[in-house]
Amino acid sequence: KLNATILELRGNIRVFVRIRPLLAGEEEPARVEFPDESSLDGGKEMVMHAPTTLSATGKERNEKHNYGFDRVFGPATANKEVFQGCQDLIQSVVDGYNVSILSYGQTGSGKTFGMSGPDGIIPSAIALLLSEMARLKEKGWEYVVEASFVEVYNEAINDLLGDAKTWDEGDDLGASVRPAGKRRERHEIHHDALTGKTTVNNLASVTLWPPPDSSSVQTDYTSRAVTQLLDTAAKNRRVAATKSNERSSRSHSIFMLTLRGRCEATDESSEGVLNLVDLAGSERLKQSGAAGERAKETAAINKSLASLGDVIASLGSKKGDESHVPYRNSKLTYLLQSSLGGTAANGKSSRTLMLLHLSPLQAHWQESRSSLLFGSKVH
Ligand code: ADP
Ligand code: MG
Repeated sequence: KLNATILELRGNIRVFVRIRPLLAGEEEPARVEFPDESSLDGGKEMVMHAPTTLSATGKERNEKHNYGFDRVFGPATANKEVFQGCQDLIQSVVDGYNVSILSYGQTGSGKTFGMSGPDGIIPSAIALLLSEMARLKEKGWEYVVEASFVEVYNEAINDLLGDAKTWDEGDDLGASVRPAGKRRERHEIHHDALTGKTTVNNLASVTLWPPPDSSSVQTDYTSRAVTQLLDTAAKNRRVAATKSNERSSRSHSIFMLTLRGRCEATDESSEGVLNLVDLAGSERLKQSGAAGERAKETAAINKSLASLGDVIASLGSKKGDESHVPYRNSKLTYLLQSSLGGTAANGKSSRTLMLLHLSPLQAHWQESRSSLLFGSKVH
């Protein structure tokens, strides 16, 4: 029984690596070599010859500079292909699993591109879940989907949807989509050990499904609601960015979907949560360059990323005992508690995917190496 539990947990934590392509105007890439690009599928060999030789192969892990991950995606990989690798995890949310997908990497490594960009994980996940729900409807299952969007900045939670003023009044979706809620309220995390659920108080949530009962907004309701929601969150982040620039690289953003399913015929129900996390940039600022507000931000980021690593590593090695997993060491891990690879009180286990994003530049080699070390620690 114990071994089965450990195996189950191991299988519930996956690590993918993705190297972004060179951008226009960039020079001096590290040598990124894919000996057999055509058979990358399934985690083929990745060889990176940089200042230090480094190679990563499928599942095997040797010492020194060899790291093993579940999948390694080269610079030519499209968002669609990365999404295909996450598909089964995301699909399991309709069955009541809690899933977290986290993008880790230095600023500029492609985290936001892969998460919110064209065919990125957020839009693709919503499309996939809608089609899964349509399939299950034929078996009598009806779902309600709600979304929230928060940012964790300096160990405090900000609601990125709560400010009604930033919702577009002109759109006919405005009134039906816009959540109630006051932005200035404090948001506290609460974890219920009995149900295994984590909640945040005073948080706005938007119903993405079913559409409101008004014929004018039914058509393509969800995709329009998602667009508005993402625009609103981006606006709220921009407002915050005037105080400390480039806010998005200094805070974690967490897009949270809750799916509640019910089947009248069989009297069954399910509840699953999908957290899509765009983490703060993992780069370490030089001590001398950081002062005042910057130093505080850096300390908060280092603390939360370190405790994220600790929690996942501890989940991977634990002996079926949740009580020693240090979730409470940071707001980020506390918030994600019920969806980070543990077994919830309801018996359903949760699943975690860490997406390590790497820059192909020679100049970023040290950061890439530290991301690979982080990844191998949690894998
Ligand atoms: P991060 O969120 O990690 O700071 P971004 O996602 O903003 O990084 O990416 C930095 C830049 O690189 C952006 O201009 C983005 O469009 C571009 N980029 C990142 N990944 C890719 C990719 N796979 N293909 C094309 N452009 C990319
Ligand atoms: Mg970003």
